[in-house]
Parts: sequence; structure tokens; C-alpha cells
Amino acid sequence: MKISTCPFCQIDDTQKVVVNKEGRIWVSHVECPACGAQGPVHYDAQSVDSAKDEAIFLWNDRPSEKLQYPRSPPNW
Ligand SMILES: [Zn+2]
Repeated sequence: MKISTCPFCQIDDTQKVVVNKEGRIWVSHVECPACGAQGPVHYDAQSVDSAKDEAIFLWNDRPSEKLQYPRSPPNW
């Protein structure tokens, strides 16, 4: 799945998926190293591939009201 261009800095091809394993759960999100923006965090119990796809899906769905920074804003 392709990661959409960052909606904040508009710089393409710098976005990456970050996946960590916490216990039996994969915790994933997309981040943009260029501006520090982070996509919504996804928790996945299936597999690392599933976790990556869901994180990208959430990122690509932005910008939308419900998906903007559910936690803390990025460090600009
Ligand atoms: Zn960015």
C-alpha cells in the first residue's frame, strides 16, 4: 500500500511506517521525518503486515476531523 504525501509539509517519499511490538500486540503509525507529523496509532493483534497496512490506511485517510492528532501534536 502506498503512503500518501504528507498533508502538512507536502514533501513526498519521506514518510515511513513505524511498528513496535508490545506484548502480543503490534503498535504502528506512519510518521514524516521531514516535519515530524505522526499519523494515528493503530493496535493490531494479527501480524506486522496487517499493522503496517492499517497504519497507512489511517494516515492516508487524513486530513479528516476524527483522525487529526488523537494524542499529542508533533514537535515542529
Ligand atoms: Zn511532513
